[in-house]
Amino acid sequence: MLVPLILLSCSSRDELVCRDCSLILISIDTLRADHLGCYGYDRPTSPNIDALAERAVRFANATSPSFRTAESHMSMFTGVYPSVHGVMTALDRSGRKTRVPDAIPVVTETLRRAGFTTAAFTGGGNVGPAFGFNRGMDTYDSVDEPSWRKTFERARAFVRTTSERYFLFIHTYHVHDPYLPDPPWRDAFDPGYAGNIEADRAALVGSQGADYWLAHDRFWARVDGRLAADVRHLAALYDGEIREVDDEIGSLLAASQPARTVVVLTSDHGEQFGEHGGFLHDHIYEELTHVPLLIAGPTIPRGRTIEPRVSLVGLAPTLLDLLGIQSDPAAAYQVASLVPVVRGAAGPDAIFSERPDELAALIWDGKKLIVPLAGRPAPLQLFDLASDPSEKHDVGQRAPYAAAMRARFAEIALSNRALRERLVPPGAQQPAVLDDATQQQLRGLGYLR
Ligand SMILES: [Zn+2]
Repeated sequence: MLVPLILLSCSSRDELVCRDCSLILISIDTLRADHLGCYGYDRPTSPNIDALAERAVRFANATSPSFRTAESHMSMFTGVYPSVHGVMTALDRSGRKTRVPDAIPVVTETLRRAGFTTAAFTGGGNVGPAFGFNRGMDTYDSVDEPSWRKTFERARAFVRTTSERYFLFIHTYHVHDPYLPDPPWRDAFDPGYAGNIEADRAALVGSQGADYWLAHDRFWARVDGRLAADVRHLAALYDGEIREVDDEIGSLLAASQPARTVVVLTSDHGEQFGEHGGFLHDHIYEELTHVPLLIAGPTIPRGRTIEPRVSLVGLAPTLLDLLGIQSDPAAAYQVASLVPVVRGAAGPDAIFSERPDELAALIWDGKKLIVPLAGRPAPLQLFDLASDPSEKHDVGQRAPYAAAMRARFAEIALSNRALRERLVPPGAQQPAVLDDATQQQLRGLGYLR
């Protein structure tokens, strides 16, 4: 009687695999899950993404690997935690900027070897070639944020003209600050605002396109984060940019062939609007690590919600599983594929996120431990996410589960260090060398002066 059971198990796993599909991976940088309609938001920010969600599995509780761009994206592409791949975003208090070591395989290389045509259309900067995001890409293209719509134009042209099986990575910084949506979305979500925030791109930048990077400083100089009206307006402008990106996603998906395309939509981290006193993305609270994750395709169940908490560190093996491609034997995926979770399996036991040298967090058994690392003066904090999902009440280190949380955290940190030592010999990680275009892209986002 065992044989039929095994056959049943194999065939149900195969049902989710699309062996002739292409795959589009969409990363909307800095997009919080809870600002999308399909995650319960009350503003109409995302009609096209919501339509995608209707034919997708929607992970209700996806956690990003980090709250920084390069760290988080590289974990998605390599399946290892940030302290293992070692890639550090340009904004780094230590001044370190590093690219992914050659010894760590990137999922794009695996897909190219399997015969996929591979292409990236991105906002560059922290997901640029300097950090290794061009590895395995037949085409790597990036544009400055003010030209962000070109990313989608070029991606649309790519999907229309590519007849082979392809892997397309599309990434935009458009919802990243400064939040400067064009009319009508500039005024759509907070029309009565009468404060000082200036969101007119032309007024901030002036007529010189080369001065674009000044917009970041000029924008924030007029914000008073103590005023509730200003905080509300920041979120409304951010929402306007989400709506603009949503339009482009609608056009891109309309250009693709749904019967032959798996679509994965996610983000690298969220954004703060004063929930814990801060703005932008410089902490590891839930508003920064709870990201959207939708997977749609001809073999994927429609409109299903997946409740177990999952980590985007599992994205690389998930992409391979969805396409029926074997992993690279050299890959050391630290989080298993999410495909069994789609089939109803439990999620991973523990979820770990980090920004090496600054902050790390462990979510385990409904509790969250936030640990300051060497370079960051911050308190050790412990939250019961089941009763306090907004992390407002630190339960303290005398809680009955605190010691077990710290021990589990130490276990993961040690295992990360051991894997790093096994994969990357000392001195083997090269610095990221930023060319002029990358530096310009980073200035526009406020990461360089
Ligand atoms: Zn980012």
